[in-house]
Amino acid sequence: MRPEVLFPLFKPVTSLSGVGPRIAKAVERVAGEHVADLLWHLPSGIIDRRYAPRIAEARAGVVATMTITVDRHIKPANRRLPYKVLAYDDTGTMALVFFHGHSDYLRKQLPEGETRVVSGSLEQFGGELQMTHPDHIGTVDELEKLQSVEPVYPLSAGLTLKTLGKAVAQALDAAPDMPRDWLDAEHKKREQWTDWRASLLAAHAPGDDLALDALVPARARLAYDELLSNQLALALVRLNMRKLPGRAIQGDGRLQAKVRASLPFSLTPSQEHSLAEIVADMAGPSRMLRLLQGDVGSGKTVVALLAMLAAVESGAQAAIMAPTEILARQHLASITPLAEAAGLSIALLTGREKGKTRDAILEGLANGETPIVVGTHALFQEGVEFDDLALAVVDEQHRFGVHQRMTLAAKGRGVDVLVMTATPIPRTLTLTAYGDMDVSRLTEKPAGRLPVDTRVLPIERLDGVTAAVRRALDGGGKVYWVCPLVEESEVLDVAAAEERYDILKTTLGEPRVGLVHGRMKGKEKDAAMQAFADGPPGVLVATTVIEVGVDVPDATVMVIEHAERFGLAQLHQLRGRIGRGEKPSTCLLLYAQPLSETARSRLNIMRETDDGFRIAEEDLKLRGAGELLGTRQSGLPEFRIADLAIHADLLAVARKDAQLIIESDPELQSERGQALRTLLYLFERDAAVRFLRSG
Ligand code: ADP
Ligand code: MG
Repeated sequence: MRPEVLFPLFKPVTSLSGVGPRIAKAVERVAGEHVADLLWHLPSGIIDRRYAPRIAEARAGVVATMTITVDRHIKPANRRLPYKVLAYDDTGTMALVFFHGHSDYLRKQLPEGETRVVSGSLEQFGGELQMTHPDHIGTVDELEKLQSVEPVYPLSAGLTLKTLGKAVAQALDAAPDMPRDWLDAEHKKREQWTDWRASLLAAHAPGDDLALDALVPARARLAYDELLSNQLALALVRLNMRKLPGRAIQGDGRLQAKVRASLPFSLTPSQEHSLAEIVADMAGPSRMLRLLQGDVGSGKTVVALLAMLAAVESGAQAAIMAPTEILARQHLASITPLAEAAGLSIALLTGREKGKTRDAILEGLANGETPIVVGTHALFQEGVEFDDLALAVVDEQHRFGVHQRMTLAAKGRGVDVLVMTATPIPRTLTLTAYGDMDVSRLTEKPAGRLPVDTRVLPIERLDGVTAAVRRALDGGGKVYWVCPLVEESEVLDVAAAEERYDILKTTLGEPRVGLVHGRMKGKEKDAAMQAFADGPPGVLVATTVIEVGVDVPDATVMVIEHAERFGLAQLHQLRGRIGRGEKPSTCLLLYAQPLSETARSRLNIMRETDDGFRIAEEDLKLRGAGELLGTRQSGLPEFRIADLAIHADLLAVARKDAQLIIESDPELQSERGQALRTLLYLFERDAAVRFLRSG
């Protein structure tokens, strides 16, 4: 149960005055639906209204707060002219100017003969001092409030600074004084941090530009709170996994030996090393929660298969879950021939298996006749029962949440979990997504892999590129042609891909060109991919649906249009689709001007290196974690206040802090523990609190 002290913060934003349903929509777009979300919406700038000159000494071109007496209102002769209010003080006169001014309203705001405070930009016009549309108009006793530094917040359409500012101010009023700080007192003192509420108020009241820096104490403390809640939640999940009884899964190696003998290659040293770590972990009495991290093409699948075989040798079952149907089918296609060498048959379960087929699969899983199943999230739906699931492998897991991982693990007794990720996540981000999971890394590519020759070209060279594609086809190669990613619009992505498809069909000849995009049905997509994989040399025009996993070893060319619009991690993932066979491969990154500084650096990095981990680190540096993760694909946690490009040090401290907390007070029972529960709720880690006995 959420603590009472937080109730006011989890009311909807519509509970604030001045926020109706329409404004609420706009507020939700920039901040969120709860009052608390406004607390995390920190100022991005300031307007300094402290300059309060008298009329005679006022400078034009700056924001000023003026105390004036209203002389008279002048209604314009026609609508194109502005409405004017003349005003004075004892040093001179000025005009307040309103376009489309509403007379009744303005007369109420600025009654003739009364003294008022107005704040806004000053300008000189025809020798006259003017203020057009003052931002604020108030009475004299409001001078102090108006003559201040006003925070500026990021806005969205339909939202004015005034409206949002008022909403944030109310949210701050609703923020309670916390009865006990969740921070370690020593740590807080060392950092010279203030209490939570004081930090919050300070972060929302920057006195100058320096106060907007993410590292000032107020902001750093709030960022730390957020990171601590993240790390503590992960530590609790982890602790809970550990608490559940594990079991020792020990294979005798007979199936693994058969499969190894049938492989046309031998495992790389890091594959061997990772497999040994996994197998040892499974053989141990506690539950495995291990991450297998390896760049695209590093050969994770075969490692996972051998681990699954260890489970099968022990008489239990294993499941591997992929994020998409294409990938599940691909896993099935690559694993089946290998598993046949061991005399095993493998089942497939996705959302598409229906009726009798599905019943038969479920039966095989329930009675234990099916030792290994490949599937999508259909695997952890209700009704899917295993006879004895011992190992759950989750591929490309950044598309799944922690919760889903746990659901699959709950389908067996002491299930070991192996999470595979192809996204080369920087170390700092690994921590936020996986906490202190054990990590195995595949650090080298399988032998014989040639580096991809990457070139960066302006889009004007398109004709040359098409000619190069034709030569590649004539030489027996296959070509991916990736179409521009249009900002958050799948419809436009698809239109662009369709257009390129039509053009290439004309220039290269119809049967050689295929198309695949996210709006196609699963079956159509698979058919297009399959035709490309099995067919003669051809071009596959695609949107980013080909990004993950799909393996076509004889694809040797990749063209990426508008490469400047893609993130580094995404470019790297895409490029990983080629260079998988013995033939040398080429990646052509086409860009359109104007090229931003960051985009240029990204493309240069792509040209320079093929090392996914380095690329990920560079990406983090270039864009900041928020942007890096703000893409559609990413399921990594996004932070509201913390910026991992800046607060990575704080993350490391938060992680240690969380570990110590869990060691000394695993149920969060102490006084600090109770406060930490509040922190978890504050950042909506309710799920983690549920692991506690009296949560
Ligand atoms: P990942 O899932 O890590 O992106 P895959 O497991 O799909 O990579 O492997 C990519 C390709 O490399 C597959 O065709 C696989 O058969 C092959 N492969 C895996 N390990 C080796 C190895 N040690 N030597 C040569 N080829 C390998
Ligand atoms: Mg893979």
